Amino acid sequence: MYLDIQVDDIVHLRKQHPCGGWEWRVVRTGADIGIVCLTCHRRLMMPRHKFRRAVKTIVQRGSPPPDSDNALPLPEDSASENS
Ligand SMILES: [Zn+2]
Repeated sequence: MYLDIQVDDIVHLRKQHPCGGWEWRVVRTGADIGIVCLTCHRRLMMPRHKFRRAVKTIVQRGSPPPDSDNALPLPEDSASENS
């Protein structure tokens, strides 16, 4: 399964952190995912494939995807047909 993760997403991991926390905030995405424990604020980096397996659920989305439903109309639509 493809995991569409973004900065500021809150995720619930399968494994409990030693501090007792389950939820982490994503602070960096890329080849490695950077997450911060919401309970003890410890920062952790892990490879994307490992992160994908560690996540149980995405608790909260940080920000909506930029191309949701307000795509800009193409300007060439109106001009070309009338000439
Ligand atoms: Zn922790």
